[in-house]
Amino acid sequence: MNIASHLSRVARVWPEGPAVAVGTQVVHTYAALGHRVSCLAAGMHDQLGLRPGDRVLLALKNCPAYLELMYACWHAGLVAVPANAKLHRDEFAYIAGNCEAAAAFTTPDLTETIAAACDDTVRAVVEIDTDRYTALLNAAPVSVANRRADDAAWLFYTSGTTGRPKGATLTHRNLNAAFLGYFADVDPGGPWRAFLHAAPMSHGSGLYGIANVVQGACHVIPDSGGFDANEVYALIEAWPGLSFFAAPTMVKRLLDVPQAHDTSNLKLIIYGGGPMYVEDCLKALERFGPKLSQLYGQGESPMTITALNAALHADRQHPRWMERLASVGVAQTPVEVRVVGADGSRLSPGDVGEVVVKGDTVMAGYWGNPRASADTIRDGWLHTGDMGSFDADGFLTLKDRSKDMIISGGTNIYPREIEETLLTHPDVAEVSVIGREDREWGEVVVAYVVANDRAVLGSDDLDAFCLEKMARFKRPKDYRFVAELPKNNYGKVLKTALRERDAGR
Ligand code: AMP
Repeated sequence: MNIASHLSRVARVWPEGPAVAVGTQVVHTYAALGHRVSCLAAGMHDQLGLRPGDRVLLALKNCPAYLELMYACWHAGLVAVPANAKLHRDEFAYIAGNCEAAAAFTTPDLTETIAAACDDTVRAVVEIDTDRYTALLNAAPVSVANRRADDAAWLFYTSGTTGRPKGATLTHRNLNAAFLGYFADVDPGGPWRAFLHAAPMSHGSGLYGIANVVQGACHVIPDSGGFDANEVYALIEAWPGLSFFAAPTMVKRLLDVPQAHDTSNLKLIIYGGGPMYVEDCLKALERFGPKLSQLYGQGESPMTITALNAALHADRQHPRWMERLASVGVAQTPVEVRVVGADGSRLSPGDVGEVVVKGDTVMAGYWGNPRASADTIRDGWLHTGDMGSFDADGFLTLKDRSKDMIISGGTNIYPREIEETLLTHPDVAEVSVIGREDREWGEVVVAYVVANDRAVLGSDDLDAFCLEKMARFKRPKDYRFVAELPKNNYGKVLKTALRERDAGR
């Protein structure tokens, strides 16, 4: 079973169907995409000497070639290693060295960086749309290489919010199971017409690209090659039935644009990859209507742990609607999800423990790192490092990463809960809560706050606000007002960096 065979099938079933567009312009039909992929795969084999199982670094910002390169790798039996285009040269070098990449493909903005980063390891660095790339496309097409379900297809390097990134090895079986979860739990209602890649294709957007190839949707690449809120609104107006994946920070940026756009074409915004606060979710529902779906996943079980689909977002009459919006939804169909205690025993609804996952989406392990793999997958259960609890209906609410939990005076405090509360203050734009070492309490709660533009906001205001809304022991002992929060390339707040900054304050 080779994940690339889906594209070959779709190319035969809907040859004239639009497959790839840039902005509003269709650039390839499915027949053309299928043909390009089988030629590229041949060129990779004949001209670059790549052989099944070789790793290929994809260092590209979102562009029309992204999809064909991923599929060409699979078609040729190679392992795609999509890396975030915003990484530092040393991070690219680390990833290329770690997976011993045999070749790299780049967009022009990254060619120099990759050539410098990959000196010793990579045999060929090929920039798209050059003569060398065209030569690959001119090779005689070949058929899809045979692969076993457990062969590696995608090395997904974790975003590295702590330590060195690790390459989650995703097999053809993992990717197949993940897109079945997409159809069952995240985006169950067709037709799937157009899918916008405004978020990095090296991550969630690319993973959801697979499901959208299976259904023959058109992959829309924004002209900017990235996320621009106004451009996204323009593309919603241009493409009927458009869906896209967005990190919560992107949803927030869409909401910051005044409401002047027609969003009736929108099919679905699929958000996840980080916490979405209820306050923002309610605003998004007001703006877009019931066209929101949430997924919770991680590179180690790509996009597939739980989901809160559009129907559940819309179920306002339900007595626990708000709690459900604050949750990450229910277990996705391809996986079993549990919450366990420190000794691995299954906990009852209401009890907080580590979220563990079992199923066909769970990675084979970390590339070349048996020790980290054995630590993370125990008895077949992927240990996510996320803390959460189920309710009696099977809805999972995440508390925090286990390392982000604060223990003050022996009591567990979950930063997320305090962040949710502070965000309901009209003058608070963003907030991140961390623990600070303290002789008396072990740790105390500290809030880093980004205030709204015009706000004259002081610690006393926020303290009074918290006193009204939460148990006294949970409220921050210190507020630090900052212009912005440290974030990684996917827009996730780096609590580790914040803790370091706080320690050296
Ligand atoms: P990554 O492997 O880089 O995609 O990061 C995965 C991590 O992001 C998870 O382990 C969670 O901590 C967090 N995450 C993913 N989805 C959600 C979500 N819907 N809500 C809250 N946190 C999430």
